[in-house]
Amino acid sequence: MYGARPVFSVETFPPKTEHGVHNLYAELTYLTQHHPVFVSVTYGAGGSTRNKTLELAREIGQRFGVTAVPHFTSVGATRADVRQYIADALAGDARNMVVLRGDPPKGETAYTPPPDGFRYGSELVEYVRSITGELDLAVAGYPEGHVECRDLWQDVQHLKRKVDAGASVVLTQLFYDNPAFFRFRDETERAGIGVPVVPGIMPITKFSQIQRMTALSGAAIPDSLSASLLKHEDGSPDQAKAGIEFAIEQCRELLDAGVPGLHIFTLNSGHATSQIIHALHDYFDDEPAASSQ
Ligand code: FAD
Repeated sequence: MYGARPVFSVETFPPKTEHGVHNLYAELTYLTQHHPVFVSVTYGAGGSTRNKTLELAREIGQRFGVTAVPHFTSVGATRADVRQYIADALAGDARNMVVLRGDPPKGETAYTPPPDGFRYGSELVEYVRSITGELDLAVAGYPEGHVECRDLWQDVQHLKRKVDAGASVVLTQLFYDNPAFFRFRDETERAGIGVPVVPGIMPITKFSQIQRMTALSGAAIPDSLSASLLKHEDGSPDQAKAGIEFAIEQCRELLDAGVPGLHIFTLNSGHATSQIIHALHDYFDDEPAASSQ
């Protein structure tokens, strides 16, 4: 999937309504013309979208001829649940999966694994690997440290366990501070993590929304970025323009620094993503993705 030239992938989520699904397909009709290397579909908190995630991934794969990648979290999942999900995913033609521990359910501060479930993402990766060799697995990395582990080196050690257990790519959490990503990348190299580490990019189109997300994840927003966004009304076209311009320059710097790809969180709206891809078109491998699905 990742080679000499950078590629980009996009992340979507299962819409709650038919209208939302219709809109997502309209966005993907345009976005897939730029040949994303894959389109991933998130797994709702607590497994709330289990079937929808798999169905949507399958439909996206068939409808758009792209590699579609379902996510999975071990929240509330027993070993039998994991086996079933993997079987269903394989039956739905999935050949890749993003595997995650997941967050504690709303209102709970600590993650409690279910009986016969998994405490850490690395255990889940190991288990999935023991079930099948047919799926390529991606795991999550945290350029500023995971919210439960602010010691970056320690967190990178935990990331290494996931890679050693069989993950073949790391997709990072959103960040706006490239030096933080470069420090993280250095640490992954120092730890001997040899798989591609792909930055996660969340273009800002409505600042209040990102402020809420980063308050939860702990990602820093540089003062200069806040200042440029706060010049405009929240969610206005001018604010979105400033956010997208920032994302383009952020991505350009990352690509110049040799990242293997970009993983763009679309929030099911292709507008910002298309502008970024269009502006950076020359960087990307424009061949249709050699689909493994
Ligand atoms: P882990 O790797 O298990 O890490 C969780 C915490 O445990 C970290 O603090 C880590 O340092 C610590 N830890 C790990 N191993 C050990 C150990 N052996 N000893 C002590 N501490 C340890 N969430 C969803 O609900 N659905 C999604 O679809 C989804 N998609 C995502 C996609 C991307 C690209 C990213 C970056 C995140 C996504 N998430 C999703 C969020 C993710 O579920 C949360 O960030 C979650 O809190 C951690 O999952 P993980 O797999 O990274 O956990």
